[in-house]
Amino acid sequence: MAHPTEDTLRRAVRVAQLAGTTPAYASEWNLDPAEISPETWESIPFLDKERLIASVTSEDPFGGRLTVPRAELAWVFVAPGPIYMPYTADDMDRVARAYGVALHSCGLDSDDIVDQTLLYNWVIAATMVDRGLRSLGCAVVPGGPGGTEQHADNIRRAGVTGIVAMPSFLEHLMEVLGDRPHRLTKAVIMGELRDADAKVRIEQRYGVRAREFYGVGDVGAVAYECEQGQGMHLRPDLLIEFVDPATGARKIPAKGDPAEIVVTDFARQAMPIVRLRSGDLVDELLTDPCACGNPAPRIPRIIGRANDITKVRGMFIIPQLVTRTLGELGINDEHCIVIERDGGRDLIEVLITGTPRENAPAVADALSGALRIRCAVRFVQSLPPGSGLLRDHRAYQTQ
Ligand SMILES: [Zn+2]
Repeated sequence: MAHPTEDTLRRAVRVAQLAGTTPAYASEWNLDPAEISPETWESIPFLDKERLIASVTSEDPFGGRLTVPRAELAWVFVAPGPIYMPYTADDMDRVARAYGVALHSCGLDSDDIVDQTLLYNWVIAATMVDRGLRSLGCAVVPGGPGGTEQHADNIRRAGVTGIVAMPSFLEHLMEVLGDRPHRLTKAVIMGELRDADAKVRIEQRYGVRAREFYGVGDVGAVAYECEQGQGMHLRPDLLIEFVDPATGARKIPAKGDPAEIVVTDFARQAMPIVRLRSGDLVDELLTDPCACGNPAPRIPRIIGRANDITKVRGMFIIPQLVTRTLGELGINDEHCIVIERDGGRDLIEVLITGTPRENAPAVADALSGALRIRCAVRFVQSLPPGSGLLRDHRAYQTQ
């Protein structure tokens, strides 16, 4: 199945033509909305968080992107920035239904009593998940984040069977629940998984089947797993593009050659979102048929953030891949990646604090495999001055 499909592109064009009538998009694009077509689609500039924030003024919290009268607004969510995200009642219904489809695909249905543990304040996620669960007929326990003991207690007493949670909170909660009897067997998890085995571990250790859900802050559900648990199906009622994080050119994500997810939202009328850069990277697009019957292509997982990456010898270096690979080897000590230039050749060294291990070459092999580029490993007492996981020293050396 081609991705994106012709039909998806045509729908996206209609969204963009509406967006093009707003002052913000009109000035940023410098395009006649009538000229937007599937052929000219890639000439539309990307939208990013910086641009959303920059267009907000004290007179206009929506930054010149509103396409409906203010009287039609039903909700305004606040994303970090701050960015104000307006929704009409119809917008909310459409987006909530999309959430419902996603949560159902992840295994929840009308028999479930679901503890909703995401934050209800300001941001969109919990309100949408709550409404999505209701659209499925689930009973919602609006627990919100924190208060692990209270969650454990209520999961037992209320007969909770499903949960929506960040993976780290879920694992902590299951530890707190311990051996106490409960009926919780299904989880929908969101937020980046630190290691590939987290889902398997949660199922084996706690008897909870976890399915993954990926959302973008200003859009909502973007991809979600099914009962097969072999990658997250892309939501069909969005235009999801994959672009080179450096050049912005469209490309298919591949191992060693990740692409950034760019989203155009069809469900939003109050404030159209066209070609929003998510900042999230994937390195695989699965197009083989899924046994669940959903024809939408799948992404296995988010592997990192576009802002945090750099290129060495033509390969993208993604710091999170290093952290994840070390974690899989049982190494959770503080570490950083140092890139230096030695006589025109770029060298990558991963410094890890703590006791030197005899298996440093094996660690280097594992990291080289994950990054697809040769790198060295050194155990050190403490990390050198600097900040962040990635310390690229090449700029200083070439001057
Ligand atoms: Zn499937």
